[in-house]
Amino acid sequence: MVVGAGHAGLAMSHCLSDRSIDHVVLERGEVAHTWRTERWDSLRLLTPNWQSRLPGFGYTGDDPDGYRTMPEVIGFIERYAQAISAPLRTHTTVTSIRSAESGYLVRTDQGDWQCRALVLASGACNIARIPAFARLLPPSITTLTAQDYRNPDQLPEGGVLVVGASASGTQIAHEIQRSGRPVILSVGEHIRAPRVYRGKDLEWWMDAAGVLDERYDEVDDIVRARRVPSMQLGGSPERATFDLNALMSIGVKIVGRLAGIRDGQAQFSGSLRNKCELADLKLGRLLDTIDEWALSSGIDDAVPPPHRFAPTAVPEPPKLGLNLSNGAIKTVVWASGFRPDYSWLDVDVLDSKGMVRHDGGVVESPGMYLIGAPFLRRRKSSFIDGGREDAEYLIRELAAFLDQQAAGNSS
Ligand SMILES: Cc1cc2nc3c(=O)[nH]c(=O)nc-3n(C[C@H](O)[C@H](O)[C@H](O)COP(=O)(O)OP(=O)(O)OC[C@H]3O[C@@H](n4cnc5c(N)ncnc54)[C@H](O)[C@@H]3O)c2cc1C
Repeated sequence: MVVGAGHAGLAMSHCLSDRSIDHVVLERGEVAHTWRTERWDSLRLLTPNWQSRLPGFGYTGDDPDGYRTMPEVIGFIERYAQAISAPLRTHTTVTSIRSAESGYLVRTDQGDWQCRALVLASGACNIARIPAFARLLPPSITTLTAQDYRNPDQLPEGGVLVVGASASGTQIAHEIQRSGRPVILSVGEHIRAPRVYRGKDLEWWMDAAGVLDERYDEVDDIVRARRVPSMQLGGSPERATFDLNALMSIGVKIVGRLAGIRDGQAQFSGSLRNKCELADLKLGRLLDTIDEWALSSGIDDAVPPPHRFAPTAVPEPPKLGLNLSNGAIKTVVWASGFRPDYSWLDVDVLDSKGMVRHDGGVVESPGMYLIGAPFLRRRKSSFIDGGREDAEYLIRELAAFLDQQAAGNSS
C-alpha cells in the first residue's frame, strides 16, 4: 500500500510494478494534489527542468534549463502516473493506519484495506508551521500562510509583514513588493544562494559537484541537516536571484526573526546581523566547494573565473519592534516552514516532534517505509530529483522484507 500520489508515491509505484509486486496507491485528491491546491499562482520550480528525473521518466522538452510552472509540474506528474499505469485510488483519504496480525490495517473514507507492507508518501509539507503567539496578532490584520497565498490581489492594500526568508518567503516578498505593497521581511536562519554562478545554474553546480548526493549517514548531525531551511532560490524566466540584497534593492525592508507579539507590537530578535553573516559564510563555503570541483574536474577553464558576492547589506541599527496596530501593516504572511501530518498514523513510529522515526527511509515498524522526506537518504531527497534513488533503494528493502515473510510462512 502506498499512501500519496505525489511524485514520490508514484516513483515507488513504478519500482513495485517493476518487481511485479501487487500494490495500490491511495490518494485523497487527484494525482499531484498538493501542487494543484497548495501553491501560489506564479510559482515555478526552483529546480531546472532537467533536474526532475524520476525512475523511467525525465524531461524531454527543448528547454532543459527552464523552470516549470505549476500547470507544467502537474502535467509532468500526471503523465508519469499514466506512463507507469499506476494502480491509483484517487479521492480516497486514509483516516487511520494500525498494526494488524500480518501487516497493517488501513482505514479510508472509501473502506478498509489490509496490506503486508506500507509506504508513507504523504508529503513533508502538509501543514504550515505558525508560531503559537500568532494568536496575539491584532484582529484587524489579515493572515495567510504560504499554502493559502495565491497572488497579491488577495491582499488588502497596505503594508505586509512576511515571516520567513527561505524559498517561499523570499519569492512571496518579492512578488508582493512588486505589487506596490510595502513589504517587511522577517529573517531568521536562512540559506543564501545566487541563481547563477560562473555562468551556470547553482543547481547544476551542486548536482555536478556531488553536493546534492551527500548521504544521510555521512553528515555530522542528520537531525539538524533535516531541519535546514530551503535555499533562497526561485525559478524565474530571467533567472533572477532572490537573496536579501536583491530584495532590498527593490525596496523590501528586512528585520530579524519574529520572536513574539506583545501589546500589538511585533518583537524581532537582534540576531539579524549574525544570521546574515552566517549565511554569507556558508555561501562562501559552498562556492569554495564548487570552485575546487571545477578545478579537479577539469572544467575550470571552460567557465568564467571564480568570484564572490557582496556581503548582505544588513541595516543598522536593526529594527527590533514594529507597531501592528496603527494600520500600516494590513497583512501577515506566514512563510515559516511546513511539517508533515501523520495524525492518521496509529502506529508507534513518531518522535516527540511528530516526525517518523526511520533509518534512511526504513521505518521502525516491520514492512513500513517512508519516502519524500527532507534528507531521507541524500541531500536531494526533498527534491523531485531525489525520488528516483530513494525509491530504488527502498524497493530493495521492501522486496527483501516480503521475501523473508514469504519464506517464513512457507517454512
Ligand atoms: C512551495 C514548495 C516549492 C517546492 N519547490 C520545489 C522545486 O522547485 N523542486 C523540487 O524538486 N521540489 C520542490 N518542492 C519540494 C517538493 O514539493 C516535495 O519534495 C514534494 O512535494 C514531496 O513529494 P511527495 O510526493 O513526497 O509529496 P506530495 O507531492 O505532497 O504528495 C503527497 C500526496 O499524499 C496525499 N496525501 C496526504 N495525506 C493523505 C491521506 N491521509 N490519505 C491519502 N492521501 C494523502 C496528498 O494529497 C498528496 O497528493 C517544493 C515544495 C514546496 C512546499
